[in-house]
Amino acid sequence: MREQVRQRAADRCEYCQMPQAQTQLPHEVDHIRSLKHQGATSLENLCWACALCNGFKGSDIATYVPETTELTRLFNPRLDHWHSHFAWKNGVLLPSTVIAAATIALLRMNSDRRVSHRQLLIKCGLFPDPQNRQTSQRTSPE
Ligand SMILES: [Zn+2]
Repeated sequence: MREQVRQRAADRCEYCQMPQAQTQLPHEVDHIRSLKHQGATSLENLCWACALCNGFKGSDIATYVPETTELTRLFNPRLDHWHSHFAWKNGVLLPSTVIAAATIALLRMNSDRRVSHRQLLIKCGLFPDPQNRQTSQRTSPE
């Protein structure tokens, strides 16, 4: 099942889109709805996540949108279309929805270190990965 999840995601984090080949830590299987919250171990509830996204997400399924009291569910790679929620601008993830804003904040997807890493990969032509480059460039006015 792990291999099916990895292949379905093209070995790319389904939250931040980082390809496994461009990170040191191995990507992991994430329970989108965690076991703690009665999530199933099934393909419909699993996604492929980098160690950073998965580590910051933990068993969380929702969080407060920054600077509000609005409790919001996290991005669900099985239900939500990535490009409907996120866009790139020079290695920084821009939220198009409150779900994305909540997810970016909780998973610390725009930490200085992560943005610098992406910017370096962009300079080297390694990010976003070629499979996703066409749609990503369309949303990235650089
Ligand atoms: Zn990630």
